[in-house]
Amino acid sequence: MSDVLERFVRYCEVPSQSNPQTADHVPSTQSQFKIAEVVAEDLRALGAEDVSVDEHAYVTCHWPASVGAEELPTLGFCCHLDTAWQSWGDPVRPRVVRYEGGELAIGTGPDGRPVTLSPDVNPELERMVGGELVVTDGTSLLGGDDKAGVAECVALLARLRENPELPHPRLALAFVPDEEIGHGAALLDLEAFGADFGYTIDGGPLGEFCYETFNAAEAELTAHGVSVHTGTAKGKMVNASEAIMRFHQLLPAAERPEFTEGYDGFFYLERMEGSCEEASAAYIIRDHDQAQVERRKDLMRAAAALVNAQMGEGTLELAIHDQYHNLADVVCLPENAHLIDNARAAYAACGVEMTCVPMRGGTDGSQLSFRGFPCANLSAGYYNAHGVREFVPVAELERMVDVLQDLVGRYARPQA
Ligand SMILES: [Zn+2]
Repeated sequence: MSDVLERFVRYCEVPSQSNPQTADHVPSTQSQFKIAEVVAEDLRALGAEDVSVDEHAYVTCHWPASVGAEELPTLGFCCHLDTAWQSWGDPVRPRVVRYEGGELAIGTGPDGRPVTLSPDVNPELERMVGGELVVTDGTSLLGGDDKAGVAECVALLARLRENPELPHPRLALAFVPDEEIGHGAALLDLEAFGADFGYTIDGGPLGEFCYETFNAAEAELTAHGVSVHTGTAKGKMVNASEAIMRFHQLLPAAERPEFTEGYDGFFYLERMEGSCEEASAAYIIRDHDQAQVERRKDLMRAAAALVNAQMGEGTLELAIHDQYHNLADVVCLPENAHLIDNARAAYAACGVEMTCVPMRGGTDGSQLSFRGFPCANLSAGYYNAHGVREFVPVAELERMVDVLQDLVGRYARPQA
């Protein structure tokens, strides 16, 4: 069993789901401390410097530069320790199986239904025939998102230790909690981390690369009504729920998540509740283009103003807040273009074609980039994330360690 595979299986065996219900604490679950300790112990055993697990289960460390590269900027890598909460995730029983083609029976899910992999659903399986896959027994997700990234990062250090002649700049590594619930590495102490730029390793299929994310804003809508007996309501009642519905109907129906893809943006009605007296709704706005986000905000303000004009001033209150911005605004600056060029070159050197995907969401990097750590997202090599059909091809885990080795080599010389 290769080093990266051994680590990966061991990390998957430690359940570490985050939980949106307890998101007021970081980490949201105690189990994330367990995986944090396992990873930190591995880092210490390899001789990494400044290995620390803080009170929020953030694991950080540094790795000194190879001879001659000491003066170059520090390159950072960031992965997340938590696994998705949307599926079963405890216990996790990873298994390594050989894929012979066709349908692969993984096991039986907790709901009693058979769990299978099929090239009809995952056409990429065709190129994995004869290779090994890491799967579970069907009773839980695997957690390749993002333990594949974690294992690849630690395996990179193991390789650098084995081969001290390999060139690389000083490295800074962070393994962070609660990514799956949108925490976004908010508590990472960037000054102590000390990386000038770098990568998150949290993408899916091998070769995937992401430097574009949504711009994101959220809107809270509150409606104040006047409740009157329905028999005598004429001319007096103002129905708060009605105000929310009128507002919603003024938003373009085609700009909803279920009708959009690629670079399309949307309004999403996330939640609504109400009575005649009081009602509220929460929306999110998403678009890769900030100008389109601003247009949607203006449209919401105009819709609220129109409803207020019809139903009485002060009926609707609208509060809009920005959440995060498109990574591309930082990564595409000329001084950061090396992040894209070097990733493409490193993939190519390892025989992997880079596929750029505009992410329809955010990454830890979308927040970190705007806090002063420009970072794009590399693939980790997982498929069918967040469910019992999740799998990780062993060859892709191993290939990603080669990609990382090549990549750090490119940063052992000054960037043009
Ligand atoms: Zn992830």
